Amino acid sequence: MTKIQMTKTMFRILKIRILDLFRISIFGFRIFVFSALILSASYSAYCAPNVLKNVRHHSYPNKTRIVLDSKEAITYTIEKTGSGEIHIRLHNITPVSKFSQIRHFLFFPIYPHVTINDRIVKKVKLKPAYHSIDAVFKLNARGASYNIFYLKNPARLVLDFIKVSDRRKIKVIVIDPGHGGKDPGAVRRYRKGLIFSYNIREKDINLDISKRVKKCLRGTDTRVILTREKDKFISLKYRVKLAKKYKADIFVSIHANAAWDKRMRGIETYYPRRARNKSIFLRKESMKLAEGIHESLIRHMRARDRGIKNAMFYVLRNAYMPAVLVEVGFISNYYEAKLLRRSSYRKKVAQVIAQGILEYKNEVEKQKGE
Ligand SMILES: [Zn+2]
Repeated sequence: MTKIQMTKTMFRILKIRILDLFRISIFGFRIFVFSALILSASYSAYCAPNVLKNVRHHSYPNKTRIVLDSKEAITYTIEKTGSGEIHIRLHNITPVSKFSQIRHFLFFPIYPHVTINDRIVKKVKLKPAYHSIDAVFKLNARGASYNIFYLKNPARLVLDFIKVSDRRKIKVIVIDPGHGGKDPGAVRRYRKGLIFSYNIREKDINLDISKRVKKCLRGTDTRVILTREKDKFISLKYRVKLAKKYKADIFVSIHANAAWDKRMRGIETYYPRRARNKSIFLRKESMKLAEGIHESLIRHMRARDRGIKNAMFYVLRNAYMPAVLVEVGFISNYYEAKLLRRSSYRKKVAQVIAQGILEYKNEVEKQKGE
């Protein structure tokens, strides 16, 4: 064998070896790809065996129940809770086709959703992601509380949304002394010689009684705010705004009456003939509050009952909360003017108004237990 022949055979053997190696490696690569495919398929089958079958909902007077039906047990995490919406991620689950298609409007994806639109829940948006679904619950009622639990046979996730605002409480009370400053309200001038002359101004009586009502309510679990603390002119609009600003639960305006007919006397209480936005709730609650205060006044003050009336007074029809206006007596009437001049009488009136407010509060807060 020559040197050249040797190198040639060596080279041939090497070539075969290399080719063999190459073949083996291709075979190995095929096996690798094949096993990888099988593994990933089994992995995905393992990872998302569950199917979201349906979204059901039922509306109750103060509760909305949403049920997510699935093939197998659901695992979930609560991702985000705000006052307007709640995000819950369902893991290892794929939605059935009716919930899986994401459509696009220009560049904005439109997720499949279930519209509910009752008093509490607006809709449920389903955002399918890789082996999971983000369920977004959009709420109509701010501050609704919710409860979430899983039930077996059949597997389902239940969400109850409960309206918290149904548990109404009377916490903030705005007392509005009528008139003030440049607006004295009704005025009575009484002259009997020089020494016994006096003036009665409605604004002073209103303020005095209002301050006393506030005093009477001290120690109860309420916060009382007066629209004015001193003899100052404030507009009707401001009074309404102030009550809104403090998120008042009720608004009680205190006035004294006057009439041309000096014989007219008695106590009357007003509620709005038509409340803000024609709200039936506001009108009804105002009426209840008026009844509470008026009945308390008539029972204790031995005054003539001029009744509970409706009117279109600015502060009543624009109030954001149940609102009433109390006319505690006629300063144009000799007898009642004399009573209203007495601080002991004004104190009694204030006590009785406070009692009426508390009676109404009690009635409202009792209802929540139903
Ligand atoms: Zn007045």
